[in-house]
Amino acid sequence: MTALRAGVASDPGRVRSVNEDSALIEHPIFAVADGMGGHRAGDVASQVALDALRRAVGEPTTEALVDAVRRANDAVVERASGAAELRGMGTTLCVVALVDDHDGDGERIAVANVGDSRAYLYRDGELEQLTHDHTLVQTMVDDARITPEEAAVHPQRHIVTRALGIDTRIEVDTWEIVPFAGDRFLVCSDGLFNEVEDDRIAAVLRRLADPSDAAAELVRLANDGGGRDNITCVVVDVVDDGDRATAASAALAGEALTSQGDRREPDVAGFTSAAPAAPAGETGSDGGGAAPRDDDTVMVQTIPPAAARSAAAVAVARRHAPASALPRSERVRRRDLRPTRPHRRFTWRVALFMVLLLAVVGSAAGAVWWYGRNTYYVGFDGDEVAVFRGRPGGFLWFDPTLVERTGIEREEVPESLAGRLADGVDHGTEQGARSYVANLEDQIDGLDGDSATGASSTTSP
Ligand code: MN
Repeated sequence: MTALRAGVASDPGRVRSVNEDSALIEHPIFAVADGMGGHRAGDVASQVALDALRRAVGEPTTEALVDAVRRANDAVVERASGAAELRGMGTTLCVVALVDDHDGDGERIAVANVGDSRAYLYRDGELEQLTHDHTLVQTMVDDARITPEEAAVHPQRHIVTRALGIDTRIEVDTWEIVPFAGDRFLVCSDGLFNEVEDDRIAAVLRRLADPSDAAAELVRLANDGGGRDNITCVVVDVVDDGDRATAASAALAGEALTSQGDRREPDVAGFTSAAPAAPAGETGSDGGGAAPRDDDTVMVQTIPPAAARSAAAVAVARRHAPASALPRSERVRRRDLRPTRPHRRFTWRVALFMVLLLAVVGSAAGAVWWYGRNTYYVGFDGDEVAVFRGRPGGFLWFDPTLVERTGIEREEVPESLAGRLADGVDHGTEQGARSYVANLEDQIDGLDGDSATGASSTTSP
């Protein structure tokens, strides 16, 4: 029988007032959930997920564990849809559990993961990250667009591409590992590894034998490093592995992980893959060495990470990522998370809108035309006073047009009026313009006698 011993430590960190992380220590299941969503919704999400997980776990198998994670997801989705203030909440979930081997001849540590909390294995002095972050920056690393070092300090490193609570369909990455006495599994939220480097994590696990002490020390280091996020660490020690360690030679045990050059690829148990993990024994063939691969990592039915990523269409912006730091595409995608309705392109609403728009545009054009054209003025056409239609000098593309010459010569016009007439005297209606002309003629006639000298004085030397 495999015996486990676990310790946990969790802290809000030095910046946040609320701890939205949750941890579950319920032998033989150990989990960390890192909730997200404003107004303490993240706190609710992580607790709901772990409560549901605890209640849903049945058979000690990896498949049952995945089912339990799915039910935890359902619980968060349902809770999120029940209250407006919880809408949009989500949580990561990373679980380590002791399960039976498929052949029933041993026990395995199953790891199940959704999101960017992590499981590590510390074995023979080496720390290995087991899980693959479901984050935007991890995708960029996988596509060789940025380096892991750049990812570690990337401003968008908090954007997760998978989380519980978003959709009833969910992909769960799983791994199965044969446990040996002395193995230490670390499950933690990103508040740890964003503040503490891997080699320092390894040093703590090397130095502090008690799992509770080790977890507490890791949290302390994360706070020392800044404590910018909630920090949760669960350390699970394999204290007894039955006769497994004696059956395997010490050399084999030392080799078990380090000799395996290949990265551990997860078994993606999701809606893209309905098939459960195949029997563990099948992986024995790919080793080829003398070592009994039964006692090594079980790795079956792997979906290429790229395919898994493209299936993971959801993107959740972590609460602690400033909204302005989100790339535009992420913001758009968040909006896309809402169920889409069939799009009717042309409805009566659209038609009515178009009619109203045309009416507005039409009346505006009419008003412009009316202003530019439906007015009259008196001015000079050459040296003769004339009535024009339009605005003096024109308006927009409406040039004034000549309506009538009056027969009054420029030199007959009294000096006091000549300046104004040169600019054009606006009269609104044709009638008004004609009245003006009539008045002008009367003035000229009336002034004929006594102003003739004045007029002649200007025109003749
Ligand atoms: Mn976090």
